[in-house]
Amino acid sequence: MPRKNPRVEKADEKDLEVGKPKEWVAGMPGVYHSMQPALKHMGVGRTGKTLLGLNQKDGFDCMSCAWPDPGDRKRFEFCEQGAKAVTWEATPVVIASEFWAEHPVSELRQQPEYWLGMQGRLTEPVFKPAGEDYYRPVSWDEAFGIVGGKLKGLSSPDEAAFYTSGRTSNEAAFLYQLFVRAYGTNNLPDCSNMCHESSGWAMGQTIGIGKATISYDDFAKAQLIIIMGQNPGSNHPRMLTALEEAKKAGCEIVGVNPLPEAGLMRYKNPQKISGIVGRGTELADQYLQIRLGGDMALLQALSKRVLEAEAKNPGTVLDSEFLAEHCQGLDELKVHLAELDEETVLQATGLRSDEIDELAARYLKAERVIITWAMGITQHKKGVATIKEIINLLLLRGNMGKPGAGASPIRGHSNVQGDRTMGIWERMPPAFLDALGKEFDFDPPRDPGADSVETIRKMRDGGIKVFVALGGNFVSAISDTHAAEAAMENTDLTVQISTKLNRSHTVTGRAALILPTMGRTEIDMQASGPQFVSVEDTVCAVHASEGRVRPVAPNLLSEVAIVCRLARETVDGKTSADWSGFEKNYDLVREHISHVVAGCENYNDRIRQEGGFVLPNGPRDSRTFTTPTGKAMLTVNHLEHVERPPGTLILQSVRSHDQFNTTIYGYNDRYRGIKKGRDVVFVSPEDIAELGLSDGQFVDLHGVYEDNVERVMRKLRVVSYPTASGCAATYYPESNVLVPLDSVAEGSNTPASKAVIVRLEPSTP
Ligand code: SF4
Repeated sequence: MPRKNPRVEKADEKDLEVGKPKEWVAGMPGVYHSMQPALKHMGVGRTGKTLLGLNQKDGFDCMSCAWPDPGDRKRFEFCEQGAKAVTWEATPVVIASEFWAEHPVSELRQQPEYWLGMQGRLTEPVFKPAGEDYYRPVSWDEAFGIVGGKLKGLSSPDEAAFYTSGRTSNEAAFLYQLFVRAYGTNNLPDCSNMCHESSGWAMGQTIGIGKATISYDDFAKAQLIIIMGQNPGSNHPRMLTALEEAKKAGCEIVGVNPLPEAGLMRYKNPQKISGIVGRGTELADQYLQIRLGGDMALLQALSKRVLEAEAKNPGTVLDSEFLAEHCQGLDELKVHLAELDEETVLQATGLRSDEIDELAARYLKAERVIITWAMGITQHKKGVATIKEIINLLLLRGNMGKPGAGASPIRGHSNVQGDRTMGIWERMPPAFLDALGKEFDFDPPRDPGADSVETIRKMRDGGIKVFVALGGNFVSAISDTHAAEAAMENTDLTVQISTKLNRSHTVTGRAALILPTMGRTEIDMQASGPQFVSVEDTVCAVHASEGRVRPVAPNLLSEVAIVCRLARETVDGKTSADWSGFEKNYDLVREHISHVVAGCENYNDRIRQEGGFVLPNGPRDSRTFTTPTGKAMLTVNHLEHVERPPGTLILQSVRSHDQFNTTIYGYNDRYRGIKKGRDVVFVSPEDIAELGLSDGQFVDLHGVYEDNVERVMRKLRVVSYPTASGCAATYYPESNVLVPLDSVAEGSNTPASKAVIVRLEPSTP
């Protein structure tokens, strides 16, 4: 039975509590914090129906991270974060029609993200006409007419941009990019532009594929796993089970991160008695608290040590056979690394030589090595070059295309990888566009479109007038919040396809539409019967996802249905696509996917196999590298690290344990000891002393950037925390206000959110 929205408390700085950071994760508290919100917000019946279906072979895919599922599933195949995500989506609380007349947009805009989300599920399309301050309910036909009319009236298709969030299913994503290309543009920004684009760029250029070169089972076969710029304890917690299994099999684990994260220290597996009553499993054998922006120097220093070890004992260290047969660029790399200055490395990393020696020794001892990473690596100016250095290090000893070894970017949004496979990219390769055009009898546009950062620039400059978002919370997720908000407000129409209210519904174009959609937990009933969709995880496994509970409102449409109806309104007849048929039966969509997307042949049959299927992956399967040379490329990358002027710190953004990307589930960050608030900045005790500050004091963070634009985050409480010296951390997405739009990773255009130079100044009362 739908319920109305409850009262939601706002965080107050007076309530903020700061305790000691934890030294272990999960255990009984993990179980409690999974079940308590679920039972409170969904009740026993809905909790059982949803959580028991989560990540099961006949259930639905977790909408939180893209962590893969093991072959053997347990009864409870989810973590605390997965339970929170399901509770957030499957809540029976709904926004009633009267809500819109009671809350002008200008008032909603003042509300924090948490308050907006807690108002409940969106259940009917609403429209805010230009010049007005209120949304009002409209019919679906009226809503589609507004979008279609506006799109058809633009002077060029490139005056519209179509954003995709990583929750979107393969079927919806495939249809969405078809609709957009049939409309005539490649303006397809997505959330991947803001997170792992650097991984895609670096890996595409060096090994020919922008995806992990391992499978789930490789974790248990590795002898060394190096985890860089990543916090699995909060961002993909079931990875800890894979790490525990690896550890039990004798693997060593090394964490490389400026902050000491409890999830990399010790894990108490709540599915085991020993995890409930025992000490759990110690994870990291070595933890390098590296300075922000120092990873590239560390990786070069490791590769240099590998080459020096080979020079000392020729023929015993490098995988010469692999290098000779499959790689190119070794001689150039040797020359380049011979010049590497150890003093520069120590300055860049903040580490001691003996710490780097220790990690090098572990690397040289291990025959099978996996390196994983996340946004602590990708969101830097030198993010692409740093990932190329990861590839260099792995290639030198043949750690690619053999069991227990490889490169593994860990994707944070559940189907962000699948969406890219399905064609959500502003620059899909010609082979894909050729196949798409042939399948649907049209000529797709060939000029590259705008990515996320470029979309903001074009909206700011008046070049993009309509912005459509298939999920997500773009204005909150993208860098330079004030610039992004001004850009969004400079459009004629914004359209958000969403399950719940968020900040992007309150910072709008002159006119704005919200189209409510079903969630993954819900039964998707269409004319031909109940439908399932499919997704791809971070190690290229594709599987089905089918909801288990009745939609929270009868008027909701699925994402597939919304895309099909938008297309019918806008591009009907421009291609041979059967939009009405697609909405009725998703098998028809998958049939076309089989013909267009490489590796998805016989999609309908293979997706129905138990557990789905795994996409082909040249480096992993056969040491095949589809680079221009046909070889894996060892690359020479000019070393650069982040310099901070005296009196400043290098700031990184982090997520709390009570959030998923821009979605805020609550105000606690249990593992870091923070309760009832988010307005904190973590600073090392040495830096607090050096800057003349004190623990608990309130400060303003002032961004320091070459454009001299004032970017400030006000009134954050200084929390003394054992982060690397010279570095600080505060919560995303609030921190986006400090990240200049033009501060991006070279090549990938990913916002450089993990290295913002800031000055800390005492707040004025
Ligand atoms: S590890 Fe990620 S995908 Fe798995 S249940 Fe947790 S949040 Fe969901």
